[in-house]
Amino acid sequence: MNLSDYKGIAVFAEQRDGQLQNVGLELLGKARELAEKLETKEVTAILIGSEIEGLAKELIAFGADRVLVVDKPELKYYDTEAYAQAFKAIIEAKKPEIVLFGATTLGRDLAPRVSSRMTTGLTADCTKLEISEDESKRLEMTRPAFGGNLMATIICPNHRPQMSTVRPGVMQKIAKDETRSGMVEKFEFALDTTKLKVRVLEVVKEEKNKIDITEAKILVSGGRGIGSAENFKNLEAVAAEIGAEVSASRAAVDAGYIEHDRQVGQTGKTVRPDIYFACGISGAIQHVAGMEESEFIVAINKDKEAPIFGIADLGIVGDANKIAALLAEELKKAKVEK
Ligand code: FAD
Repeated sequence: MNLSDYKGIAVFAEQRDGQLQNVGLELLGKARELAEKLETKEVTAILIGSEIEGLAKELIAFGADRVLVVDKPELKYYDTEAYAQAFKAIIEAKKPEIVLFGATTLGRDLAPRVSSRMTTGLTADCTKLEISEDESKRLEMTRPAFGGNLMATIICPNHRPQMSTVRPGVMQKIAKDETRSGMVEKFEFALDTTKLKVRVLEVVKEEKNKIDITEAKILVSGGRGIGSAENFKNLEAVAAEIGAEVSASRAAVDAGYIEHDRQVGQTGKTVRPDIYFACGISGAIQHVAGMEESEFIVAINKDKEAPIFGIADLGIVGDANKIAALLAEELKKAKVEK
């Protein structure tokens, strides 16, 4: 393999029902920054589906120089085999040196298939991506290892493309610029339908009214220190007064105080709200990994030595349940007085 044949960065612009997923836009932001350090500074978004070409403009506004549109009726719904075939054809034709996927359920399914078909490596769930300072200009992919106790930086020295998945919320979008210009290119390939093993007969959507904590501007998060599902109501009361959502540590989820989709951390979600209240949370590395990029962190813990105070902007030593109940009451009063 001649590594120097591979140039530029490709980002999977995941869409569902014609809606671009945020993580693809976040990865375009990161790809823009990485591309500045490479010889070929081009960032390509890969858009796969049916009748989705209209989304290309938005991808350009968020940093793509080129959008490769793979549009076929058979690609309307995600199908591992069909998407993997599309990716393989793109990589063989365009030879990107780096390919990035969001670590969504779909991205986690697709990326390993593609890397295996290309006989290259894949680093999953990266929290940091950098270009090495030496002349190799390799992608350095960092992710937690050994249960989050150390951070491993992984390289893919002998194969191309260098591939990684990144969870939603870890990277940041660049500001949308509708004046940016870019190319939109239709990519044709022969889909081998005899290899497709799944046929979608009907799509039945799960009825759910759940919130996505990664989108919340303020999070009131509770840990084991909150003590019970009943006590979480104090946090809900605070959240209701300030337009926040409630989230939690894994210990609180494991104890059954709250549902898993509200878990923050390495095996939960990565969040980056404007304000993060950590109530009765010790600050274990696996929790901190999911919230340390929050703009302003308020920690309430009865142990003044709790590690969470090490990353907090404001620390309150005390009983989180009492403080939350008082806070909810005072916030309610303040609203009434207004
Ligand atoms: P604890 O560590 O038990 O801390 C409770 C805190 O509450 C203490 O600091 C205590 O002083 C304080 N406290 C007690 N009572 C009160 C009170 N009344 N008022 C105020 N403070 C009080 N954890 C996550 O959160 N997210 C993850 O995604 C995650 N992934 C993991 C993945 C792996 C592979 C592993 C090994 C672990 C993972 N963990 C994760 C678990 C993590 O290591 C910690 O065990 C967990 O974060 C602890 O949760 P906690 O802070 O709520 O509980």
